[in-house]
Amino acid sequence: MIELREASMNTRSRKVQGLLEHLSLKPSNAGTYAGAAGWIADSDAERLVSLDPFTGNEIASVLQATGHSYDQAIEAAVQAFPSWRATPAPRRGLLVRDLGTIFREYQEPLGELISLEMGKIRSEGIGEVQEVIDICDFATGLSRQLYGKTMHSERPGHRLYEQWHPLGPTGIITAFNFPAAVWAWNAAIAAVCGNTMVWKPSPITPMVSIAIQHLVNRVCREHSVSGIFNLVIGSNELVGKSIINDLRLPLISFTGSIKVGRQVATKVTERLGKTILELGGNNAIIVTPSADLQLAERAILFAAVGTTGQRCTTARRLIVHESISDELCSRLVHAYSQLRIGDPLDPETMVGPLVRPEAVSTMMEALDTVQRQGGEIVVGGNPLPRLGPCFVEPAIVRVTEQVPIVSEETFAPILYLIEYKELSQAIEIQNGVPQGLSSSIFTTDLREAEYFLSAAGSDCGIANVNIGTSGAEIGGAFGGEKETGGEREAGSDAWKAYMRRQTATINWSDELPLAQGIRFGPDAG
Ligand code: NAD
Repeated sequence: MIELREASMNTRSRKVQGLLEHLSLKPSNAGTYAGAAGWIADSDAERLVSLDPFTGNEIASVLQATGHSYDQAIEAAVQAFPSWRATPAPRRGLLVRDLGTIFREYQEPLGELISLEMGKIRSEGIGEVQEVIDICDFATGLSRQLYGKTMHSERPGHRLYEQWHPLGPTGIITAFNFPAAVWAWNAAIAAVCGNTMVWKPSPITPMVSIAIQHLVNRVCREHSVSGIFNLVIGSNELVGKSIINDLRLPLISFTGSIKVGRQVATKVTERLGKTILELGGNNAIIVTPSADLQLAERAILFAAVGTTGQRCTTARRLIVHESISDELCSRLVHAYSQLRIGDPLDPETMVGPLVRPEAVSTMMEALDTVQRQGGEIVVGGNPLPRLGPCFVEPAIVRVTEQVPIVSEETFAPILYLIEYKELSQAIEIQNGVPQGLSSSIFTTDLREAEYFLSAAGSDCGIANVNIGTSGAEIGGAFGGEKETGGEREAGSDAWKAYMRRQTATINWSDELPLAQGIRFGPDAG
């Protein structure tokens, strides 16, 4: 058994080496990219180690940004902004189209790097790059559709319309769990909108961001542009805080926890900057007596244990009608016992590791707390140190009511099962948490589905019928209400957050009528 594990570890480390070389990554990398100044590694830069959550071993290391290199990255974005802003939007779209092409070409290695560094399974890593490709395609089309409205003026001989202009250099701060897709949602849209940007990725996934920057640089060289996409990998204390306080960045798009999001919102609002906040969720699936239980079971499984419970849209609460709760629970217990947990790069694996050993501790503490609050573990919930430092069994916990811990987002695969009697009660339970990201109902009853989608139904930014809570498509606006932040990214008209709106009135007559019929001047009487 041990020999087998060592043999597979040797194969794995050869694969990892090949992957790093293929993506132009080195054992030690500069962590700042600043337009024409290129990659910067200051002599006093501190080293950041990228770890493999499967083994706990070092993958490679990065020299973090210092105050000096941070400043160069921001200046690169500031300097590049006037000419990028002046580039016609459809031409900006051509660059983003070519980003989509290079990500198509590198989909597999980049997807595997995501799997290696973040720990999600290979197929989800590759799926994440598909999301990058999809948003590039979407943004390319969008570059010809940055529409403004024309209104009828109340004054004769006047034209009234609104137009959208690029906003300026944009700060993008991303979470560890979607190390490529969240950057792309922001970067592809911001780029076609005419903004330049500086990306601060999570310190947990520096190699993914460096690989992406290398691919982006190739496309930018082909288009003879620089300074549009910049990167600063560095500490929260230096880089994180500098970005949110930086007056050169009129927009900060932040994806991460509610705790940090609150600080970002306070600081950016204080300087009257704009924010896009995509914060934590606490997503629920309601299953009614009319539901197709087979469909529900499959969807719940992926929503609850996919990405080892580390999606913002992970299903954390299952609100089931009392008449079917035992049957659904036993189906899920059976499905959980079949999960293949292991190396995320192994195509057979269904559940990879959590991101860090601390996440295992957080999960165990939450399980202790919920049991103290009256919850009963139905399946799973043990650490699996035999597999590695970050492995756990996904858990289902029955709770009789929404006890305090259930209102919190624990970023791990714990599914709380709560019974309900009436649909109105189920919706009340679902909405009774501070977060408002994603929600689902499983029903074959039209009335139940429409009630769930009505204004009296789900209060979340995403409401699905007969689909799990996770796995949104990029075409829709993505985001949540309440403590999730209230803003939107990706599709629909989310692009408007990256631009500034201008209302323009043109008087083409030789009169000067004032709005609202006001008369003013010497002849007014
Ligand atoms: P996190 O809040 O710990 O970190 C997010 C980012 O903020 C990282 O880049 C981090 O380095 C940076 N950061 C930390 N402190 C900072 C500070 N003081 N100033 C500026 N930046 C700072 O979140 P995480 O653990 O990386 O990600 C998990 C969280 O993100 C979960 O709550 C999850 O629900 C949420 N998330 C939300 C969405 C969404 O779209 N709503 C998507 C993905 C993840």
